[in-house]
Amino acid sequence: MKEQFVHDGQPVQKERYADIIVDISHEKVDRPFQYKIPAALSGQIVPGMRVRVPFGRGNRDTTGYVVDLCEEADYPAEKMKEIACIDEKGATVESDLIKTAYWMKSHYGSTVINALKTVIPVKHKLKQPEKKKITRCVDTKELQRQIEVCEKKHQKAKVRVLYALLEEEILPYALLREKLNIAAPTLNSLEKQGIITIETESYYRNPVRRISGREQAKALSERQQFIVEDVMNDYRLGRPFVSLLHGITGSGKTEVYLGIIEQMIAMGKQAIVLIPEIALTYQTLLRFYKRFGDRVSVMNSTLSMGEKYDQMERARRGELDVIIGPRSALFTPFPALGIIVIDEEHENSYKSESMPRYHARETAIQIASLKGAGVLLGSATPSLEAYYRAAKGEYKLYRLNERLTGGCLPRVYTVDLREELKNGNRSIFSRKLKELMEERLAAGEQIMLFLNRRGYAGFISCRACGHVMKCPHCDVSLSEHRNGMLICHYCGHEEKKPKLCPSCGSKYLLGFKAGTQQIEEAVHKEFPEAAVLRMDADSTRKKESYEQILSAFADGKADILVGTQMIVKGHDFPNVTLVGILAADLSLNQNDYRAGERTFQLLTQAAGRAGRGERPGEVVIQTYQPEHYSIIHAAGQDYESFYEEEITYRELLQYPPAAHMLAVMSTAKEEKQGETVLSGMAGCIRDRFGPEKGLYIIGPAPAAVSKINDLYRHTLYFKHSDYEKLVQIKDMLETYMKEHDLKNQNVQFDFDPMNTF
Ligand code: ADP
Ligand code: ZN
Ligand code: ZN
Repeated sequence: MKEQFVHDGQPVQKERYADIIVDISHEKVDRPFQYKIPAALSGQIVPGMRVRVPFGRGNRDTTGYVVDLCEEADYPAEKMKEIACIDEKGATVESDLIKTAYWMKSHYGSTVINALKTVIPVKHKLKQPEKKKITRCVDTKELQRQIEVCEKKHQKAKVRVLYALLEEEILPYALLREKLNIAAPTLNSLEKQGIITIETESYYRNPVRRISGREQAKALSERQQFIVEDVMNDYRLGRPFVSLLHGITGSGKTEVYLGIIEQMIAMGKQAIVLIPEIALTYQTLLRFYKRFGDRVSVMNSTLSMGEKYDQMERARRGELDVIIGPRSALFTPFPALGIIVIDEEHENSYKSESMPRYHARETAIQIASLKGAGVLLGSATPSLEAYYRAAKGEYKLYRLNERLTGGCLPRVYTVDLREELKNGNRSIFSRKLKELMEERLAAGEQIMLFLNRRGYAGFISCRACGHVMKCPHCDVSLSEHRNGMLICHYCGHEEKKPKLCPSCGSKYLLGFKAGTQQIEEAVHKEFPEAAVLRMDADSTRKKESYEQILSAFADGKADILVGTQMIVKGHDFPNVTLVGILAADLSLNQNDYRAGERTFQLLTQAAGRAGRGERPGEVVIQTYQPEHYSIIHAAGQDYESFYEEEITYRELLQYPPAAHMLAVMSTAKEEKQGETVLSGMAGCIRDRFGPEKGLYIIGPAPAAVSKINDLYRHTLYFKHSDYEKLVQIKDMLETYMKEHDLKNQNVQFDFDPMNTF
């Protein structure tokens, strides 16, 4: 059925039906209607296109957008209407968004509805926020006369309004309705009498406080200037580009973004700047506002749906030049997008964890190519993906090597925790760290203690020799389950937990379970006079308290800040001269192929926190695995060497970016159910492909977290060097599910997963 039929010399579209939404900005996004593609339009209908269709009972001529194409009708075709024609007005901003949604659906696996909901800001049932107000039209004397008249007539409601107007000439409509309990007819009647006017202004909520004082651009360094010009040059020549700016924190990357955006704005173009939510601090935003004023807006999770919608509307109307926000800001409908900047490009939060599981980097590249815009990625520790593409010449690579505002790189000590134990030190703090902490407290300088909590899954290691219990087939660490079994979450391998370390025979074979709270307690015990602040997911439930804790620390209200990875991002603390990383291997032993990369990034970032001011900084990395390359290269602040080792490992084991991976994840009420479905799927692909070269099928196996909310989770992995092959497999699996009536099974697809599920 693959071949194209030819009819009157025209290629005939194999898809004979189109799903169409008729009203884009309303809730109707939820409801596409299916239409027949008439023979005359065959081969011409594509997603994103505007078409005219007969709609509703009266077959009203209506504009619709094609969102999906299909070969088979969802309901009897003879009852289906036909597309009338292609709308001459052509593509709109919406067309691009729909094309993006369609691409996401095909590229990541999702329903077209979920993809549309992701890219199109859905106007909510609440009406556009309206600011209605009433204004008094008569003078005080006349008003008092009217009050008397109304009092005589016992028009109590009117009297309340008029008394209120005696005090304020303008009153918000909502206040009258809700607080003074005035009904609309009363106000309408007053308007008719000519006593008041009712005015409505549709008003766009702007979350940006007005900032006074513009800032002039810094004179860029020669290197920064070169990058700005080179990027602009590519843009002007109409070369679609993706560039990667690799530069340590403080090397002037943001200043480069600002320089490029300035030139874009001068050309009448707009910019999207993605920043991880956690780094969206006031400090960062201020730099943008000071440069570009109130034509900058910010999108973040504290905005209501209505506010988000407003921002999108402002962008569409051309009232904004720059939008800053986390991954969802990508879908801002700018009329003439010039560039998408993705700062801290390596951050995990750029990957969506719900359907469609899109990655902001790839999606940005897709959107940019639709719009003829450029993409600039920036990071101190680029993702393996980005650096790999740059190494292959697909992305252009720029470097910034020096810190611009003094502050040399910190001095790093790596402490072997096995030696500490041998020497009888069982405290959380190594002798070196303790010694340096005492020094800093005496000198009145600040300390950050960092614990990577992500390692909590419960890996098992030997406290005497550092040996980690690993799966013999997968090179990932085993997780301990309550029943005393060790399990590999990649392949399902199980073994009994040994009593003694298989490597050295010691009996200290334990899970590492220290949390930030225990550290805080230990600090109190060792340094009772020190003031300590703690920051982790528990202490920052509320949005503000994150900023509050950081500003309290920045203001010198504490000597020591204890925290998880949250403390290593964004903020600058010039008075911090010591950073202690308590257990560097915690993140190394996640049963995850990205563990080494994540560890390197975190350690590098954490180390970079020390010595940002005038005084030099020191860093202590405590670890059971001082010989691990992630730790060695983080200590040396040497990205290239880390990359070389890491990419070799990925190539050897065919992990992304060297190859691609498709995770199929099921959740089911019955333990067997999910596994059976996935086994069926694995079987289906094995049958279709036979022993296809380069295709690896792994699992099914219980997921890393095998049960959540009484639902059992299983995973199945496919690996292949060709992404398109995996997309093909995903399509086959979707068909398989339809054919086997598995539509109600909860199965999700995740391409190149960031975490094991
Ligand atoms: P990054 O984004 O790489 O962390 P920034 O752009 O924030 O780096 O720059 C770090 C610091 O250096 C900031 O305080 C910034 O104002 C300053 N800076 C950047 N470029 C210049 C320059 N050309 N001249 C002077 N100061 C600069
Ligand atoms: Zn395994
Ligand atoms: Zn051992």
